Amino acid sequence: MQGVGFRPAVWRVAKELGLCGYVRNRSDGVEVVILGSRRGEFLERLQKSLPQNARIDEIVAQECEEEFDDFVILESEEGKNGTLLMPDLSICEDCLKELFDPSDRRYRYPLINCTNCGPRYTIIEDLPYDRKNTTMAPFAMCKACETEYKDPKSRFYHAQPIGCNECGPKVRFGKLEGFGAIEAATEAIKEDKIVAIKGVGGFHLVCRESAAEELRRRKRRSKKPFAVMFGSIEAIEAVCEVSEKERELILSKERPIVVVKKKGGFTGAAPDIDRLGVFLPYSGIYHLLFSLLDEPLIVTSANVSEEPIVKDEDEMERLGIADAVLFYDRKIERSCDDSVVAAAEGKPLFYRLSRGFAPKSFYSPKPFPPILAVGARQKNTIAFAKERSIVLSPHIGDIKNVESFEYFQKVVDDFGRIYDFEPEIVVCDAHPGYETTQFAKGLGKKVIEVQHHRAHVWAALAELELEHGVHWSEWVGFAWDGTGYGDDGKIWGGEAFVGDERRYRFDYFKICGGEKAIKDTRLQGWSLAKAHGAQLGDRLFEVAYEKNINCFETSSVGRLFDAAAFLAGLCEKVDFDGEAGMLMERAYRGWEIGHYDFTIEPVIKIDFAALLRDDKPLIPTRFINTLAAIILQIAKKEQKPVILTGGVFQNVTLLSLAVKLLRSEGIPYFFPTATPINDGGIALGQVWRAVKNGVI
Ligand code: ZN
Ligand code: ZN
Ligand code: FE
Repeated sequence: MQGVGFRPAVWRVAKELGLCGYVRNRSDGVEVVILGSRRGEFLERLQKSLPQNARIDEIVAQECEEEFDDFVILESEEGKNGTLLMPDLSICEDCLKELFDPSDRRYRYPLINCTNCGPRYTIIEDLPYDRKNTTMAPFAMCKACETEYKDPKSRFYHAQPIGCNECGPKVRFGKLEGFGAIEAATEAIKEDKIVAIKGVGGFHLVCRESAAEELRRRKRRSKKPFAVMFGSIEAIEAVCEVSEKERELILSKERPIVVVKKKGGFTGAAPDIDRLGVFLPYSGIYHLLFSLLDEPLIVTSANVSEEPIVKDEDEMERLGIADAVLFYDRKIERSCDDSVVAAAEGKPLFYRLSRGFAPKSFYSPKPFPPILAVGARQKNTIAFAKERSIVLSPHIGDIKNVESFEYFQKVVDDFGRIYDFEPEIVVCDAHPGYETTQFAKGLGKKVIEVQHHRAHVWAALAELELEHGVHWSEWVGFAWDGTGYGDDGKIWGGEAFVGDERRYRFDYFKICGGEKAIKDTRLQGWSLAKAHGAQLGDRLFEVAYEKNINCFETSSVGRLFDAAAFLAGLCEKVDFDGEAGMLMERAYRGWEIGHYDFTIEPVIKIDFAALLRDDKPLIPTRFINTLAAIILQIAKKEQKPVILTGGVFQNVTLLSLAVKLLRSEGIPYFFPTATPINDGGIALGQVWRAVKNGVI
């Protein structure tokens, strides 16, 4: 990768050891030539002093005959193959110290960054990663910055977005500039105004809890939770229950939003549910802002009803959803949302892989032909394989309006151009109606369709092999989620695969109400009740159900969750994906409460008649226990390692319970911990299925 300070690290180690030679970037990696016989010592010391964002995938060594009398860093070879696009990095400790040091010339410079930190993905226009190929190009370096930029001893050496109060981009708020702008923005927030703030990958809407209702009105969002930024980990721990792993994730250098259990309050940010997405400042602007405040703030992506996050100040002004705008005059080339993660069983569970983590690149010892995968529809990401890399893009979003489709196309175009990549094969979902499927088919390349839930399982297998170095030749893969197009044209979402064979599925159940039913849990609950002999719905519903008007059949566990949540009296409608699951988790009481009867063959059937007769407060517990018991029974029958994946397993209660049961029986299991467990991982699975099935 470029832009992680690898060459200066090599230079320093060589200098320390008094070695002569050179280091330079090549199109296929980094070339180091050292004179003499101390290769082992050099490599050992280099491994120990690697910069925090660098990693060595492979070392190829050979003898050569050359003469040198110093160690130097040579100019990069032109060309861009093989180098990888870096994610944006949160501000490092050194920069943070200088930010608040009155004697430093970057004192209170909001956009401070160095080789170890700062924007990458969001400012790069082209590779190689050089200032002229970034949105920093219009800013000429001052003398002092230029000196640091050229000094291998400086941590600003070749820091492409280097700048200072004198020469860098300026932060603005109305007529104010720099720190004054941040002070004024803070005052506005304290007056309960909603302020748009330009983060690393796009604008946030920032306000106090007391302005949450107004923010919901403007964003046209009723209950979906907002993330909350805190000034310190101690401030988070005072109001939330934070496990060791959650603490580690909150403090990690990627600075994601971490979903934790709140002790109470925050009814503006997260109504009804007991979880809260929390994070810490990750850029100079937010650190300066929080140095002026002693309360947490709602910090949520600036967009209107599911469109992509806003990245340009003109657009932000035009939307008029904020009372005021704090921005800097460096362009964001492509937007990038915040990452969202939870912890389950001491492991990260990614709901959204984005800023800090993505583009996520995997290295393979074996080369791949060029393959592009376009993902599904919801939580879309793209992925590609080329040479010895597989790269998964950051979160793009739900492809359901013109704006998000345009953004999707931009990411596809940008990846193609930046990586100099022309796919031979394009992989897509099997859903004929997805915009991404139609896009794939319109490219005029060889197209492979991978059924949605098989892609989920293949994504888990990809991570298992590429990230953890484990290969399984057989498995039983549970892919449970909200929706996916099945081989038979029905809506799947409750399958278990042995290899590519769909060996288990939930019994199809008929839902009456069409698309509308997905948000209206009553319709799902009534439908499930009706199928098991109970009448809960109104007359109109009864007629429609019996006459098969606006009905569809599904094996989706996500839909069963919704129906069960309604039957438990928890919600009549849902406003966001996963809401029913979160309400069920909140009501969960433990494994001892027992589960409903079920059969797994020929299809999975739960005794829903028993659920309908049950005490409402016990339904969430027994329903979740039943799902876990089903997993265990299938796993015991198959005697194969188990994969758990799909949006349903974002439910930490279910996931943890299933894992505990499998562990107690000594059955190996895996769930994705470095890539999204939901549809954000589909593109990776599509690529991996194409790679692994010998179609190439
Ligand atoms: Zn830094
Ligand atoms: Zn400067
Ligand atoms: Fe899915």
